[in-house]
Amino acid sequence: MSDKLIVMEKRVYIKTFGCQMNEHDSERMLALLAGCGYQETKRWDEADLILVNTCTVREKPEQKAYSFVGRFQRLKENNPDVIVGVAGCVAQQGGERLLARIPGLDFVIGPGKIYRLPEILHDVEKGRKGACAVGFEDGSSVHLPISHSQQLRAYVTIMQGCDNFCSYCVVPSVRGRERSRPSSEVLAEIESLVQRGTKEVILLGQNVNSYAKNNPHELTFPQLLAKINEIPGLERIRFTTSHPKDLTEEVILTFGKLKHLCEHFHLPFQAGSNAVLERMNRGHTREEYLAKAKRLREATPQISITADVMVGFPGEREEDFSQTLELIQDVEFDGLFSFKYSPREGTQAAQWKDDITPEIKQRRLEVLQELQREITLKRNKKLEGAVREVLVEGRSRNSPHTMMGRIRCNRIVNFPGGPEVVGELVKVKINEGLQNSLRGELCR
Ligand code: SF4
Repeated sequence: MSDKLIVMEKRVYIKTFGCQMNEHDSERMLALLAGCGYQETKRWDEADLILVNTCTVREKPEQKAYSFVGRFQRLKENNPDVIVGVAGCVAQQGGERLLARIPGLDFVIGPGKIYRLPEILHDVEKGRKGACAVGFEDGSSVHLPISHSQQLRAYVTIMQGCDNFCSYCVVPSVRGRERSRPSSEVLAEIESLVQRGTKEVILLGQNVNSYAKNNPHELTFPQLLAKINEIPGLERIRFTTSHPKDLTEEVILTFGKLKHLCEHFHLPFQAGSNAVLERMNRGHTREEYLAKAKRLREATPQISITADVMVGFPGEREEDFSQTLELIQDVEFDGLFSFKYSPREGTQAAQWKDDITPEIKQRRLEVLQELQREITLKRNKKLEGAVREVLVEGRSRNSPHTMMGRIRCNRIVNFPGGPEVVGELVKVKINEGLQNSLRGELCR
């Protein structure tokens, strides 16, 4: 048997926590590992390498990641040959300390050092214990291969890091300052994806609206969108995340002008009270946020707006929380990602007293989520009777005879159909708006 064949038998199990950026990093790590002879497995008990890609942005995924890694310590007792690595933001923040804290952990690799994964793995395979590569990316990560798998929807990083320093957020310290990829590389990556079957790209960055803001020789974000829109064969473009202070009128007017740009905008607001926003160092007021959300809806009435919000930030009074609820009612978000504040090590807010009790945080979260559930259902019901374009992603989880896809404003639709429509853009009549999805029928 050749060496190559032996190498190809290796399996990697990767568990990803956190945001789409992490999902994308996992894809890139899988592509690098494929070059080292590792194939992905969905079963951790048959893996030769277990990689946990972690997130520290919120407390819950961080704790989950720790308990997940802990499970593999027991696995290592039975199979000492299995290699266990931690990647992502917990790795970046913890570095060498993680190796000391988690017995049996073989290596730690931060998001900025992904390109060193083959070298680290090689060292560990040769018997080196406790390899650690953390620190900010030094230009090499942008040349990482993209996943070789055929993907109908693919993530494409256009920038990394953030310059905003919101007082609660670890991103600037774990992902570094803003760095934009050259537009030529972004366009080449998307062209290559489209040639391999991708129909929808989701452009990723912590703050995509400030793409290349310090480089007068580079395309602006709206110009980049316009170039991507011209790529033959690409059907849909989405992007996330945006910061309200960097959302310009030019970007707002891009919707409707570019055929392939989908009508969905994720615009986090975090809190509805100016006092809280100021302590969060968000750089925008409640009034500015409301004005931009209004402009988005005026310019593109069918646009769907989603956001991130947190409750229980230090010093959040009942009246501050009421203002958050009012803002939610005013904007009528299509969906919200809502969280309870938890202090993150190394942030400015972590130095302040976490003075809102867990019970109050929980109550506020429940009240907020109940309000949003009503609004989401109402907005989903408004779509009943409409015919919408759907990119069919595959079978629905609940039934083999039901297909699932997304309309342009990112809602999930289930409809009766067969696998022949997977990967196609079809027209679906929406018959029912439900809490988390829509139900419809194919228009023949
Ligand atoms: S904008 Fe604020 S919350 Fe978003 S990544 Fe940057 S610092 Fe974090």
